[in-house]
Amino acid sequence: MRTDWRRGADVEAIEARLREDKAHTIKAVAVVHNETSTGATSRVDEVRRAMDAAGHPALLLVDTISSLGSMDFRHDEWGVDVTISGSQKGMMLPPGLSFNAISAKALKASETAKLPRSFWDWKPMLASNATGYFPYTPATNLLYGLDTAVDMMLEEGLDNVFARHDRHAEATRRAVRHWGFEIQCADPRHYSSVLTAVRLPEGHSANALRATILERFNMSLGNGLGQLHDRVFRIGHLGDFGDLQLIGTLGGVEMGLRAADVPHQSGGVQVAMAYLSGNA
Ligand SMILES: *Cc1c(COP(=O)(O)O)cnc(C)c1O
Repeated sequence: MRTDWRRGADVEAIEARLREDKAHTIKAVAVVHNETSTGATSRVDEVRRAMDAAGHPALLLVDTISSLGSMDFRHDEWGVDVTISGSQKGMMLPPGLSFNAISAKALKASETAKLPRSFWDWKPMLASNATGYFPYTPATNLLYGLDTAVDMMLEEGLDNVFARHDRHAEATRRAVRHWGFEIQCADPRHYSSVLTAVRLPEGHSANALRATILERFNMSLGNGLGQLHDRVFRIGHLGDFGDLQLIGTLGGVEMGLRAADVPHQSGGVQVAMAYLSGNA
């Protein structure tokens, strides 16, 4: 489905498409929970409701790679069939681990599915997992890291972890608006608490700004992908991240805007500081 890349999944369009599919040729609805290239978070609970409203038996597959551990996600409660995630974003680890949560319905579907799978087959993994082992040599060092990452999150409290991400995202958006730029995500209900993609005014290169910031302040910002190439830059605020890191990040952006001659209203960092100090 084509969209303007400025919001999360369109649940009405999904429901309409599923209603049309009377023969149930659609086998799965695949949704990215937090779209890392645009900073839009889909409402997975609403996608589920749309599927149920259409009375369609498709599986619901959700990519939570950049949201798990940073924003609330409920595999069971939201009726997700397969959740896929990874170690390298909000879980605060190097890349190398990927994991799935699988519903009984998805497991049953996999038994008769004809897709080639080999290494990716769940069966040997599930059989070994029952005894606490793996069918192949796992990335043992990352599993130790994951154990510690989960301990850290539970110690902080998941609600507090999510609130911290929400708060940093709000401070970032306030700075961006003050600078006079648009946030790529146009629907506040879909704002991402993990990252903010910022649109530069027409005629200004986001990549030139990113290059200036990298060269001058040694800070690497995300680029715009696909149709957003050179139009947006992305500010990440996820994982092991605190107020001072955010202010340092926003300070680097604001200094970069000045150094790269991108017209903006200075003082976005102050606006973020005021928000953070007023909202403990
Ligand atoms: C990072 C990410 C992935 C994984 O991509 P890699 O190329 O393995 O880094 C997948 N989906 C989302 C939403 C992501 O943010």
